[in-house]
Amino acid sequence: MRWKETFIPTLKELPAEAEITSHRLMLRAGLMRKLTSGVYTYLPLGIRAIKKVEAIVREEMDGAGGTELLLPILHPAELWRESRRWDHYGVELMRIKDRHGRNFALGPTHEEVITDLLRGEIRSYRDLPILLYQIQTKFRDEIRPRFGVIRAREFLMKDAYSFHPDESSLNQTYQRMYQAYSRIFTRCGLSFRPVEADSGAIGGDVTHEFMVLAQNGESEVLTCPGCGYAATQERAESRTSKPVDEAPLAKELVHTPGLKTVEEVSGFLGVEPKRLVKTILYRTDGGFVAALIRGDREINEIKLMRALGVEDLQMATPDEILRLTGAPLGFSGPVGLEGVGILADYSLQGGGNFVVGANREDHHLINVNYGRDFRVDGFFDLLLAQKGDSCARCGKPLSSGRGIEVGQIFKLGTKYSESMKAHFLDQKGKERPFVMGCYGIGITRTVAAVIEQYHDQDGIIWPLSVAPYQVLILPLNITHPPSKEAAEKLYSQLGDLEVLLDDREERAGVKFKDADLVGIPLRVTIGERSLQEGKVEIKLRSEPTSISVSIEEVPQKVRSLLEKISSLAKVDSQCNIGRMKSPLDEIYEQGINEKE
Ligand code: ATP
Ligand code: MG
Repeated sequence: MRWKETFIPTLKELPAEAEITSHRLMLRAGLMRKLTSGVYTYLPLGIRAIKKVEAIVREEMDGAGGTELLLPILHPAELWRESRRWDHYGVELMRIKDRHGRNFALGPTHEEVITDLLRGEIRSYRDLPILLYQIQTKFRDEIRPRFGVIRAREFLMKDAYSFHPDESSLNQTYQRMYQAYSRIFTRCGLSFRPVEADSGAIGGDVTHEFMVLAQNGESEVLTCPGCGYAATQERAESRTSKPVDEAPLAKELVHTPGLKTVEEVSGFLGVEPKRLVKTILYRTDGGFVAALIRGDREINEIKLMRALGVEDLQMATPDEILRLTGAPLGFSGPVGLEGVGILADYSLQGGGNFVVGANREDHHLINVNYGRDFRVDGFFDLLLAQKGDSCARCGKPLSSGRGIEVGQIFKLGTKYSESMKAHFLDQKGKERPFVMGCYGIGITRTVAAVIEQYHDQDGIIWPLSVAPYQVLILPLNITHPPSKEAAEKLYSQLGDLEVLLDDREERAGVKFKDADLVGIPLRVTIGERSLQEGKVEIKLRSEPTSISVSIEEVPQKVRSLLEKISSLAKVDSQCNIGRMKSPLDEIYEQGINEKE
């Protein structure tokens, strides 16, 4: 492709709207433009990178036994009512009406549509298992679209769904998807890690997220250096120190005028924050509940929902708190609290002499002890895990890091097949609900994640596997006839490769800057002076230095260098699952020794 014939609108200035590197570079390198909040146009370079990721995904999905189809974007509301997600998915579901006033959703995910399809088609266990996937535009009305295509409202996803006669068949496919995902992200050059996760609105019990390690990641990941346990913060199980056992002292009411926060109360009383117990009131479908957590820690609301077996939860309003406890917000406590269920975190089991709200304005109780002074309906793991907590499996302290979730796989079980009455006949002729799995990859988010991991201060450094072009031919002065001729000759000699020829009549400085910004892995620079000696320069975008090569040797040299970088990026058949390092890291460490 000739630069002048395509459309690569690079930007010199930093776009003000972009907060993180990948977003800035996707705009600056002319990969995309914003239409409106969370909605992007993919420009020629952008769509080429996207197609590369898609091709890798297709190859690996096909290799794992998947078959591609294409489901509609427009979903009738009735389907979403069957699964009850018309209500439960909430405001993230984009909803529209047709001319007759019928309700529709723009698909954020396709469990309903695929289940509806297969319940009408697959009758017998003989036709199972089956794994179907699509690559398609998804819509989610995200509360805070940001970071470009990392959190968009319209984005590309690969989503796959599997249907099985039983759990063990699901487990096999789940394992295969886990491996396929590991291969896909490795082939994209990414350093990533599969972690245990929470299933959120999709449902099901077992799920893993594939996290690309990145400082700008929105997810916090907790890992155990001892046993290798890794989980999202939402999911992570951890233990923290229990209160020291001490003799219960006499309970006392203390006046704490206007002191509501943990810091204010603990400062005033001269006790450690962890001596306090926070009592947080929530409204659920099944009534109000109080959750108790140590003063210095936070409740993990997802764990609380699980403990309660509810799908939704809201913090009680100040009015509700007043009605339930008789005191304004900031003075709630478990002593004498009637009419609400009380759940406590494990870290409150044992010791005592706690400080709690007195359910009376401007008052707290000190030396409060479980059993003697208050009851709970149960102890659960309600703790939002954090770095330094003990691993729930092996006891070693947990570390934390940030990640971008690029994919997630779920064992759904029969959640959708039961609610949507999707049944097949088993070997004994008995009707059973399908056992299902689903598997998503954010295609556009993956492109952004690659850029987060592969860039420098000058621009993108594409790994070969997802680069929009492999080779950039850069004649410094296209109006110089011998340079132009050499460039055109090379362009046709390398015609079987993906080559971009910068045929613009721009200054050399502008062309170099754009070359670095756009980040094509291999650059061939044709300069007037070296050309007189029959030489041109070859440079890898990932390497600081270039090599001088005689013009006749260029095609062969280019091919061998590309071969070299691509073989480093190939996945070995073992595919080291969950590797922290990508194969391309090697090239960064060793450099390329081609200076002879
Ligand atoms: P998140 O927790 O980041 O909102 P999710 O868990 O809701 O994502 P899934 O339903 O698991 O997302 O979707 C599968 C994949 O689609 C995700 O792993 C992610 O890569 C991608 N994805 C999800 N939401 C978005 C979005 N708003 N913009 C771009 N990609 C997204
Ligand atoms: Mg997810």
